[in-house]
Amino acid sequence: MLVDNNGIIIDLFKEKHDIPLELFENSLDLEGNTVYPGFHDCHVHLEFLTKRFSEIIFNEKTDKHEFLNTLKTSLKNFKKGDWIIGGGFLRKFLENMPSLAEIDRISPDNPIFFYSKDIHSFLINSKALEYIKDNKKLLFEKYSQKDKNGLFTGLIFEKAEDIFEEYLKTNIKNMRDNFKLTQNYFHKYGITTVHNMDDDVIADFIAEEKDNLKLNILNYYRNPENKNNDLFLGLKLFADGSLGSLTCCMKDNFTNYDFSGIPVLNEDEIDSILKQCSKDNIDVAVHAIGDKAVSVLFNKFDKYNMRNSRIEHAQTISDEDIVKIKSKWFSMQPLHIQGDIELSKKYLSDRINNLFRFRTILKNSGNLIFGSDVPVVEADVVKSVFWATSRDNKSKDWNVNETISVKEALIAYTKTPAVFEKCFSGDLIKGNQADMVVLSQDMLKCDSILNTKVLMTVYKGEIVFRNIMWSNVECGISNVELKKQERLGFGVRGSRDLF
Ligand SMILES: [Zn+2]
Repeated sequence: MLVDNNGIIIDLFKEKHDIPLELFENSLDLEGNTVYPGFHDCHVHLEFLTKRFSEIIFNEKTDKHEFLNTLKTSLKNFKKGDWIIGGGFLRKFLENMPSLAEIDRISPDNPIFFYSKDIHSFLINSKALEYIKDNKKLLFEKYSQKDKNGLFTGLIFEKAEDIFEEYLKTNIKNMRDNFKLTQNYFHKYGITTVHNMDDDVIADFIAEEKDNLKLNILNYYRNPENKNNDLFLGLKLFADGSLGSLTCCMKDNFTNYDFSGIPVLNEDEIDSILKQCSKDNIDVAVHAIGDKAVSVLFNKFDKYNMRNSRIEHAQTISDEDIVKIKSKWFSMQPLHIQGDIELSKKYLSDRINNLFRFRTILKNSGNLIFGSDVPVVEADVVKSVFWATSRDNKSKDWNVNETISVKEALIAYTKTPAVFEKCFSGDLIKGNQADMVVLSQDMLKCDSILNTKVLMTVYKGEIVFRNIMWSNVECGISNVELKKQERLGFGVRGSRDLF
């Protein structure tokens, strides 16, 4: 493969020995490993993810002892008085959490604010309380936990977060510094394009930095005024909530409950927003999880002829709506299946077969694009392909009718998103951007998908990630002067023909 100075593929060779590698100033022998187009993650939260790199993140197994130790060690990286923000622990941790006195002893001078993984509970210390003088009363009356002696435990809930809002705001400077880590994070998983769902703060920053980015980023904004921005894909809206909190909108009641969810926007509101968007020529991406919410969107997209608008998650589709699937866009996240298996058994027992309908969507000529929802789950494409195509041992009988082939899953990560973006990076052909991923095995032919490793990620012909385990490959991309048109000669013998 030959790539020009702008990172565009100008020639391809079928076999690596068709052209001797030495011919190229800057060549790289991929040693017969598998090459795919770079993956597209069609649902990411760039702001949350970038924030994560300046926060202390606890894993799900964190207990009291580990929590205090981590806090103690991390404090060394902060100045006296800095806010220490982080979280990620499970509710279980809170049943045996450290006391306020224990936390204060470790962090007497730095205010802390840690959230639980579901972002409904928060842990603070006495120093943090000093900042909210006027709101202390409100906090204690409405949103705080007290022990049996009536003393504050350090735990606060729900809207308490708003009281601390001004201290938790993302520091833009940190954001810029940490954005490199965000890019590296995606490269590690072979991802070269993302669709960002976060709000306008990071989107503005990305627009400013766009010439320095090593990732194709397209944004969904909350504010339609960003319409003329280069990276604008559309508007992000919410039709309903989630299955876990029983706020997704279902046609019928949840099992053993006498309600069926809460809409974020009711049908009339969706109607008037979409009417306006269609008039202004703005596409939308609408979060919809329940079958009712999805059904309403099917009708509205048809009514206003919104062909490039899409449904985010689309986790439940009822049988009667299958006829409306044709040519609609579905942005789905196979890794969410893991978390929804137990919930669906409990709340949707009779409707399990209506969940994550990958096969039904493809069979009925819907357009399926995949993503992760990172940082809610990790952006691990290999794992995601595994869940889209099979199930683990424990859950292998869960809705297997809706699994798809590995090829179909890979296409939902490459070719189909590129069609949606009207971009040139979903396939390794002449004229396309040289975005690619080198894998340790061909996922289309291997025995165990989960053993696949990302060895290298290339963005516009530049190597942006190299797995240190893969040391055989020699290349000196960075210090070689660019000559003529040839920038990078890849000895590619991959499976791109299969796409
Ligand atoms: Zn999301």
